[in-house]
Amino acid sequence: MPETTDSNACNRPIRRVVIAGGGTAGWMAAAALSRTLGKVLDIKLIESDEISTVGVGEATIPTLVTFHRLLDINEQEFMAATQATFKLGISFENWRDVGQDYIHSFGITGKDHWSAGFQHFWLKGRERQLASDYGDYCLELKASQQNRFAHLPKGGMNYAFHMDAGLYARYLRRFSEGFGAQRIEGKIVEVCKDDASGHIRSLMMDSGEEIEGDLFIDCTGFRGLLIGQTLGAHYQDWSQWLHCDSAIALQTRSVGEAIPLTRSIAREAGWQWRIPLQHRVGNGIVFSSQHWDDEQALRTLRDNIEGEVLTEPRVIRFKPGQRSETWIGNCVALGLSSGFLEPIESTSIHLIQRGIVRLLQMFPASGISPADVAEYNQQTRNEIEHIRDFIILHYHVTQRRDSAFWRGCREMEIPASLQHRIDLFRQTGRVFRVPNELFAENSWVQVMLGQGLVPEQRHPVADLMDDGELARFLDGIRDRVNKTVAQLPAHQTYVQTYCPGE
Ligand code: FAD
Repeated sequence: MPETTDSNACNRPIRRVVIAGGGTAGWMAAAALSRTLGKVLDIKLIESDEISTVGVGEATIPTLVTFHRLLDINEQEFMAATQATFKLGISFENWRDVGQDYIHSFGITGKDHWSAGFQHFWLKGRERQLASDYGDYCLELKASQQNRFAHLPKGGMNYAFHMDAGLYARYLRRFSEGFGAQRIEGKIVEVCKDDASGHIRSLMMDSGEEIEGDLFIDCTGFRGLLIGQTLGAHYQDWSQWLHCDSAIALQTRSVGEAIPLTRSIAREAGWQWRIPLQHRVGNGIVFSSQHWDDEQALRTLRDNIEGEVLTEPRVIRFKPGQRSETWIGNCVALGLSSGFLEPIESTSIHLIQRGIVRLLQMFPASGISPADVAEYNQQTRNEIEHIRDFIILHYHVTQRRDSAFWRGCREMEIPASLQHRIDLFRQTGRVFRVPNELFAENSWVQVMLGQGLVPEQRHPVADLMDDGELARFLDGIRDRVNKTVAQLPAHQTYVQTYCPGE
């Protein structure tokens, strides 16, 4: 547990919440707080029309569906308002090696035995030439490959969304204002602290207005105006493991039907994303500035996009890492102000959501206790370190040797926690999910196999089936998957019927 200082304590009841920043983080926080505690809190959100949002976080994971359910957000209304499409996973292209692809899907693959995951049965099936691709036993994966989608009865299909980030903030603004949150437009020019406690007292606006509060939520993006610039929270730099530090984003007009997959295409010094929405496609390239200058990255991006370009390219710089503490005194940081892990697994919006839920669970209505602050920070650190390891896995376990960037990724030393997971899987085929970890065993297995890591052994429980039984077991799963997929409508058709527009 981290040390807590008395400066985190505050006996004053919390009634006035001030959210600094109106990007995805700010408006998600405003929506959840106003929907849940709007009747007892005074909630203000400050955003500046002069300072644009980062605006590129457009691929999500299934936990957003849960977040919307908690808030009672109508999915059809949300999808129509944000031009959203469904997402069933991520297609990783050229990551294992140039020309080799796999999908990390949101579904469950096959059927586990209580003592061993499905991969052990599949491995035996491969040895005996009874099994086809690992992905053939996963409904979401096969549906995404065939560009199909439908809502299925509970637990039937695990999905997320691709959405327009700017429209999402606008949608959540309307939602939050409906529950009493107040928006203030203007630039924060000073963060005023109370000398005795060191807590934030107010935010000074360029208009001269002073906005006072009891609790401040820093959603000012990479600036980290409150948590970093004012409170000096330490930033743990993880660039020794995550070598990309830049991105270029641009939007194109859609050509063809929107697929229910985010595409992540590895390039010589980074990777390119493609996020299909109803009205356009979000594109970008994430890269290492040590290996490519902006021009090389932009050229690669332009050479590999389809459709008319709708926006000027935007260059974004970042430092991969995380603040050691995201709650200090009466300030909680959410979104980019709290840290940033690159978006190959679309985890940033999920982390915003987790921060909000955690804050609501520990909401300090009658004063801030150092124990809550310590707990919040510890949980946040644990959660993000597992995600960090999962992301590093994609870079490190690769067969690519074609550029200095990929050779560097292969040869780097990785966190001991990740090395252990890789060794365990390589030697035994086993993976164990750590409590409260985002990615479950099936995600780790899909990515480890997809990246080319083949276990040396498998669990003996797979030997309880003879060849005939194993073939029936594997074929039965695959047949059920294929039968269900064949009955699903085309994704685009389903989206058009489900949300015909505002
Ligand atoms: P911002 O969007 O930067 O918002 C900051 C806000 O603070 C703005 O409203 C601004 O006006 C305000 N502000 C700042 N300073 C002041 C001031 N002085 N006075 C008043 N207002 C101020 N996440 C995903 O989940 N999926 C993805 O696919 C994904 N892709 C990404 C791709 C890239 C290249 C990058 C960089 C990020 C990506 N993310 C993704 C992360 C995602 O974009 C962010 O987590 C999300 O947008 C939240 O941003 P934010 O609200 O913290 O910051």
